[in-house]
Amino acid sequence: MFLTDGRYTEQSRREVEGLELRTYAQDLPGMFATACRDLGVSRVGFEAAGVTFQTYEKLIGAVAFELTPVGEEVERLRWAKDPDEIALIDRAQALTDEAFDRILPKLVEGIEEREMALELEWAMRQAGADRSAFDPVVAFAENTAEPHHQPSGRRLRRGDVVKMDFGAMCAGYRADMTRTVAFGDPPDELRRIHDVVVRAQQRGREAVRAGTTAGEVDRRARDLVEQSGYGESFTHSLGHGVGLEIHEGPALRAHSEDSLPAGAVVTIEPGVYVPGLGGVRIEDMVEVTEEGCRVLSRTPRELVIL
Ligand code: ZN
Ligand code: ZN
Repeated sequence: MFLTDGRYTEQSRREVEGLELRTYAQDLPGMFATACRDLGVSRVGFEAAGVTFQTYEKLIGAVAFELTPVGEEVERLRWAKDPDEIALIDRAQALTDEAFDRILPKLVEGIEEREMALELEWAMRQAGADRSAFDPVVAFAENTAEPHHQPSGRRLRRGDVVKMDFGAMCAGYRADMTRTVAFGDPPDELRRIHDVVVRAQQRGREAVRAGTTAGEVDRRARDLVEQSGYGESFTHSLGHGVGLEIHEGPALRAHSEDSLPAGAVVTIEPGVYVPGLGGVRIEDMVEVTEEGCRVLSRTPRELVIL
């Protein structure tokens, strides 16, 4: 049974198949109680991370039985994607690649980070995206040392590196990609860091295979960064699942025992951040397969110097 309010009655007629549809006006708790009675259920699970305490109190007040919190049971069903879901994520990535091609000529001296963020959104929409999968991150020079910098009025100057983390959304499915490019000659250390991050990302890609643990993939990429002397500067986990949400499971993080299923789409995104100097992150989505993985993006990873 699918319960909705009047705003989505028509949309649900088109999109919800195989369920009885009911529209409620004011009284969700009353409708919920009626629905439970009609279905003959006496115990209902709810997603603990998605129901507020206030809603929980209203629902529990309307029924005479138990409401049972559940954890990631529903989310885990989404880890492995169906072929039609993969096709939509591929499409979202193709639009993201196209936007990257369109955006490079916009990097000119004096442009602001937030203007570039707008250009990225515009380029993705022009390519055919429904919208951005998330607010793009655009950072220049010293601001690239912040993993998730909020685009500011900082203007582009010769010698800056530019980090762009962005993705398109297509029929509800998302893409996620990061590239770090140089506007003129970058500092030598950032060139070295870029090389380390490319190699760490390659290690991560090579470690992905159905049945491997998420923690093992993180370990393999992180080992390379540590051996290069930048272990302390790789301050986040290696990656995350992408689909209907920009961050979903499985998370590629240290010590995770979660086994990667074939059909999962995860990012591989090592980053090295040095305060005062800058940082480099390179991020691509891969599809987990029985033999290894398939990289979804076609944008090159080599350091582009504009
Ligand atoms: Zn990203
Ligand atoms: Zn990401």
